[in-house]
Amino acid sequence: MEVIVLDSVPFEVNTENVLRKMHTTTDSPYSESIAKLVAEAAAVGNPKAVYKPAYIEAKGEDFVIVDGIRFTSRVLRVNLDEIDRVFPYVITCGRELEDLFHPIKDIFDSYCADVIKEMVLVSARQKVKSQIDRQYGLQHTSYMSPGSLEDWPITEQIPLFQLLGDVKEYIGVELTESCLMLPVKSVSGVYFPQEGTFESCQLCSREKCPNRRTAYDKDLYEQKYKLK
Ligand code: SF4
Repeated sequence: MEVIVLDSVPFEVNTENVLRKMHTTTDSPYSESIAKLVAEAAAVGNPKAVYKPAYIEAKGEDFVIVDGIRFTSRVLRVNLDEIDRVFPYVITCGRELEDLFHPIKDIFDSYCADVIKEMVLVSARQKVKSQIDRQYGLQHTSYMSPGSLEDWPITEQIPLFQLLGDVKEYIGVELTESCLMLPVKSVSGVYFPQEGTFESCQLCSREKCPNRRTAYDKDLYEQKYKLK
């Protein structure tokens, strides 16, 4: 099955949201330099994505085989119980922004650049998800990412990248030996249709995580995912 490569994903980034995220306002002495960085990012940014539909060929107690490639995770396996098709993806803010902000040495500007890249990535991710939903007529979807839970470790990036093919050639994202992605502001995972909502955060007890999307449910693993 062919992969879909988006080499210029639309995105939105604006100074107001960056200021808010940085807990500052237009009165701040930094607001002018922040606005300048946002304008540069808006002009140069070029997020990219690769995804494809992939088919589940076999399911075990704690693994699934997708297009011939094995993924080991009890949580993923249970979440895909009723499902035959998934959508693996990698989305990146793009090397253009990395290169643009690379020369920055000032700590504050560097933090600001990080916030901007994150916003570009989040915006691009929403656009890609909408495109996948429209393209395949999906109503409700959830996603899981390698490394978000102990149950599905970061090393599962390797089969995910294998499933998608030459991700570096497609969109310039490569895996390091420790399975981190470069550019750093990239996300990877598997979208799948699901009624109701699943978030890895429901199974993650990490306290004070700035990215938490929903509350930890201490009983969920035992009730739904634990092997009997
Ligand atoms: S709480 Fe934070 S670390 Fe845990 S799954 Fe959610 S985003 Fe990831």
